[in-house]
Amino acid sequence: MTSRSARALRSDFIDPFVSREIRRLVKAFGSPLLIVDCERVRTQYRALRAALPEVDLYYALKPLPHPAVVQTVLEEGGFLDLATTGEVELAAKLGVDGDRCIHTHPIKRDQDIRAALARDVRIFVADNPDELVKFVPYAKQAQVLLRVSFRAPGAVSDLSRKFGCDPEALLPLARRARDLGLCVKGLSFHVGSQAPDPGKHVEAIEVCTALLAAARRERLGPLDTLDIGGGFPIDYRQRATSIGYFCDPLRKALARLPKRVRVIAEPGRFIAGPSAIGVASVMGRAQREGHWWYYLDDGLYGSFSGQLFDHARYPLESLRRGKPLEPAVLAGPTCDSIDVIAENLLLPHLDTGDLIIGRAMGAYTWASASEFNFFPKAKVVSVNQFPGDRGRVLPIEY
Ligand SMILES: *Cc1c(COP(=O)(O)O)cnc(C)c1O
Repeated sequence: MTSRSARALRSDFIDPFVSREIRRLVKAFGSPLLIVDCERVRTQYRALRAALPEVDLYYALKPLPHPAVVQTVLEEGGFLDLATTGEVELAAKLGVDGDRCIHTHPIKRDQDIRAALARDVRIFVADNPDELVKFVPYAKQAQVLLRVSFRAPGAVSDLSRKFGCDPEALLPLARRARDLGLCVKGLSFHVGSQAPDPGKHVEAIEVCTALLAAARRERLGPLDTLDIGGGFPIDYRQRATSIGYFCDPLRKALARLPKRVRVIAEPGRFIAGPSAIGVASVMGRAQREGHWWYYLDDGLYGSFSGQLFDHARYPLESLRRGKPLEPAVLAGPTCDSIDVIAENLLLPHLDTGDLIIGRAMGAYTWASASEFNFFPKAKVVSVNQFPGDRGRVLPIEY
């Protein structure tokens, strides 16, 4: 594409995160909203591609399983990381080829394996001998990545406590797979989400490089794939290391792998997080103990559930500008006392109907929301999936 046509295309996209567009979308679709900007999905995908040019990116659906995000990632040349039969079915409904997907849940039922194979998803993850046995009936079609655990007590969520085998247990596990007649495609790890620094990824790559070589020497399988998982950090109220700096040591460590090893990654948060904002409206207000409390139509049981489950702190602001700023409390809509989003936030004086914006709310927010007290989850609007796309609500079916 010439730079002129790229520019022409760009002018067909809008920035849905500026106040004029936010107000327009709320008018058209109501509140609460989660506004997903596919142009930002592209920006995030390209930034990670540029930081890890030799690595194929499998978008992990878990943080935001939305059709527009999935399709945008695929159009960029990406792949999908699926973990449940529901995610497999969502991908199938969108017409995605199974060979662009991997199934990475380390613990599956027979029906989950069969559902994935029926959609031509063939690469699975296992981390223990009992799980390997489940693949014996499918040894001709399925291939396994063995997941290794690297504890990361610093990560916001240390996924290696729940899944993965110890590095010392990997060779015995790979031998067991070989003895069962299974194809050991390679190794995988996930050091935990929102990694504070690249240290764990580097350690894991180094250990896996040695394990791949040792397993290859024993001819335990093709061992031609290394899956370095997700965990790539983004900015919240606290800034994260920029992705280029974060990936620099990863790239250096990956350069020591033999050329025949294909490296893949499973970014979730990095793609989805910065690509969406949450919008909520003030339903009512009250002055309590000298402070204004504003009650929003979204809260901890909705899109702000990520504050509890994901320990995230979203940058919050009011669309109303003005002075003076005064300390205020933002509360969710439910009748539960824990449903308080923020206290001591400096805000202008707000009215019923005023809008509150949460930035970086694409990942682990709407996806973990409930409809407690029958307050509906935020409606998800996608914008900029194609030039001229000024906002659509897509059915999210699985
Ligand atoms: C949740 C998850 C991911 C995505 O992790 P992020 O930290 O959001 O990038 C990737 N792979 C697996 C197996 C996961 O469970």
